[in-house]
Amino acid sequence: MKDLLGGKGANLAEMTNLGLPVPPGFTISTQACNAYLDSGETPDGLDREIGAHLAALERAMNRKLGDPADPLLVSVRSGAKFSMPGMMETVLNVGLNDESVHGLARQAGAAQGADSAAAQRFAWDSYRRLIQMFGKTVCDVPGDEFEHALEGAKKAKGTTSDLDLDATDLRALVEAYKNIFVQHTGRDFPQHPREQLDLAINAVFESWNAERAVLYRRQERIPADLGTAVNVVTMVFGNLGPDSGTGVAFTRDPASGNQGIYGDYLANAQGEDVVAGIRNTVPLQELERLDKTSYDELLGIMARLEEHYQDLCDIEFTIERGKLWMLQTRVGKRTAAAAFVIATQLVDEGLIDLDEALNRVTGVQLAQLMFPRFGTGAKADLVTTGMNASPGAAVGQAVFDSQTAVRRSAAGEQVILVRRETNPDDLDGMIAAQGILTSRGGKTSHAAVVARGMGKTCVCGAEELDVDTRGRRFTGPGGLVVEEGDVISIDGSSGAVYRGEVPVVPSPVVEYFEGQLDPTDEKADELVRAVHRIMSHADEARRLAVRANADTPEDAERARRFGAQGIGLCRTEHMFLGERRQYVERLILADSDSEREQALAALLPLQREDFIGIFAAMDGLPVTVRLLDPPLHEFLPDITELSVRVAVAEERGEAHENELRLLQAVHRLHEQNPMLGLRGVRLGIVVPGLFAMQVRAIIEAAAEHRKAGGEPRVEIMIPLVDAVQELELVRDEAERVATEVCQREGIEVPHLIGTMIELPRAALTAGQIAEAAQFFSFGTNDLTQTTWGFSRDDVEAAFFSAYLDRGIFGVSPFETLDRDGVGRLVRIACEEGRATRPDLKLGICGEHGGDPDSVHFFHEVGLNYVSCSPFRVPVARLESGRAAVRTAGSDSR
Ligand code: PEP
Ligand code: MG
Repeated sequence: MKDLLGGKGANLAEMTNLGLPVPPGFTISTQACNAYLDSGETPDGLDREIGAHLAALERAMNRKLGDPADPLLVSVRSGAKFSMPGMMETVLNVGLNDESVHGLARQAGAAQGADSAAAQRFAWDSYRRLIQMFGKTVCDVPGDEFEHALEGAKKAKGTTSDLDLDATDLRALVEAYKNIFVQHTGRDFPQHPREQLDLAINAVFESWNAERAVLYRRQERIPADLGTAVNVVTMVFGNLGPDSGTGVAFTRDPASGNQGIYGDYLANAQGEDVVAGIRNTVPLQELERLDKTSYDELLGIMARLEEHYQDLCDIEFTIERGKLWMLQTRVGKRTAAAAFVIATQLVDEGLIDLDEALNRVTGVQLAQLMFPRFGTGAKADLVTTGMNASPGAAVGQAVFDSQTAVRRSAAGEQVILVRRETNPDDLDGMIAAQGILTSRGGKTSHAAVVARGMGKTCVCGAEELDVDTRGRRFTGPGGLVVEEGDVISIDGSSGAVYRGEVPVVPSPVVEYFEGQLDPTDEKADELVRAVHRIMSHADEARRLAVRANADTPEDAERARRFGAQGIGLCRTEHMFLGERRQYVERLILADSDSEREQALAALLPLQREDFIGIFAAMDGLPVTVRLLDPPLHEFLPDITELSVRVAVAEERGEAHENELRLLQAVHRLHEQNPMLGLRGVRLGIVVPGLFAMQVRAIIEAAAEHRKAGGEPRVEIMIPLVDAVQELELVRDEAERVATEVCQREGIEVPHLIGTMIELPRAALTAGQIAEAAQFFSFGTNDLTQTTWGFSRDDVEAAFFSAYLDRGIFGVSPFETLDRDGVGRLVRIACEEGRATRPDLKLGICGEHGGDPDSVHFFHEVGLNYVSCSPFRVPVARLESGRAAVRTAGSDSR
């Protein structure tokens, strides 16, 4: 029920159902949040429902919220469908006021026996925390003011530790905090417990739209309209003495996937202290010594949770005077490597099957594993080793604040964000940086959790470093000083921090795809074996074939090693650049048929050579060659430069006839909207002999390859077709040329002729176009451009950020296919094309062919293949497999 209750609320309910020790409470739904955010006021009925659930909670606890004699206190926490660590608000200790603080002291004292000083201290400290959190979160009082007052109190006492402040100090601090509250809000700190609760709930609702939450959602592609649930839960205290404490744990190592006990514990502290990474924690194993009963119970619960969720879980817990309470659990975030390893481990443990294992990993994770990492033998200046919080290798200039990270990275520099610890305000700096280095905090600190979520390299808790953010430098062992701008390298897999630039080496996963690493070899690590197993299963399961977009034999070879089953798009335009430009220029300037034919004749053998190499690299597999697409003037000199050159020459009386002709041609061919101009099939129709030359080169190359014993599988593709008539003209000419070459060479060259579907008219008349086409390949780049009316070269930089901010779309339609609009055209074209020609082959070769989400759509509409850049081929294979097992799963349900 995550949609309605948020992840935290749903899992609290789940744990309660499992009979685990969860403090009693209730969850306010995301629907209530959305209704509140839409109208700006409390939705009808919410007030009454909160009253009813609060009353039930009070009955269950046998205490009343904020009761002066024996108060019930609650925490009010956000919890969205997808985890957004630290991005939204929390208020603890709701229910405390000037009277109930005494009641809390009595409760604590009664439980603690005679030590009433400690109980008093605890109660006033709790009240202080409430005013601080409530002030900051609910009423926007600047947090610094409270911090400042706290620092003042410590200074007056001559100490640097909160723990040295006694009840009297804290009581005075409460007064100071209340004054700060009045100054900033113009009202007294609310004393009525229910008012506190209502205001805290609204503040949590509103925190859904806090700037950092919006930014995080955009980064993580979490939809903006989900809203957050609010969990109102009885407070339990980890700061009631040495037999209390709080911790976080994973049921397996989230960095490597290895089984074991992974977690941090902090005695006599509240949960916030651990997550913020403010105090250094001890490893969870220490708890065995401190409180064996709770430790054993916790281990039992962890095993239970893994079995129940059949996955790695992370948990937060608190021990209140020897009693263990589960505060939260969720299926834990993990590194990309751990995702693969854990999925296969769970298969081996019999908890899930291979289909499910495939479901548990993503193309985005696989792409992360294909990044390079540092070489093991690299000799570099090792400075220190921190915690390996999020893997990868990052090199960049050290910067010490978020703004500098953003500024320098916008200027094209690579930076590493170095902080003592990070907090949610550092988010945009973390996004901009190559990696993150902190000197404090464990694997569950903010920096670690957020970096892992982003797939960003992070080393945290490098305690030997002294980070001086004001002085913009850090110091380390042996007198090391690193100033802002100095280059450092961090290894998120080992935790190593180096001074200077460490060379990076390719990822083992890429080496595996390249065929340089044998996954069955004993030396292959667990990750490579896991990737191999899951990829093999994806290949077995998938229905979509995966081809590559490749224009050179080198790219074709690499694509083939990566598992491409052919070329879905061989663009021929680059074959007309460089030295060959002169022939194209001659072709454009030709005054007579014979001049044009000469230019084409010069191009023919060059084109033939291009194709021979590609057919050889893809021997036995289909190769779709697309005839020339871009506007002709792209092959001519820049209009402004040429105009100036000619004007200067004329001024000097040196004007050259050729230059003048060139300028005329440039003017003649100049277009205001070249993307909508003379390109693709239009060129083929307007420039006699151009497409014929290309077809001749293709068929001659294939004939030669066949004669040499090869098996070319030729597909000739016509770009930018709007109408079947265009296609018929070009197809007929192409067939004439093919027949002529085959007869002359005395050999058959089997081939298909098809078209790109990349204009709305083509999609809408696909039924007619299929009469003349043996295959369709969707050019979703142009189809997106022309469906939305967005210039693909300009709009992303021009105004997409405003569109993303305003929620018009969650991700650029050039990146992930717009299912509702462009997708609808694709669907129509598939259906109507196949109605005309049932064996019509359907593929896609726009950028979306390698985008995980879009691959699922192409599977759904029943394409035969997707084609993408060689490096994305493994991602497309994996996602095609995932799409297939997902559909199979939902069919059987
Ligand atoms: C397309 O438009 O999607 C396509 C593949 O062609 P190009 O990107 O070369 O225009
Ligand atoms: Mg195109």
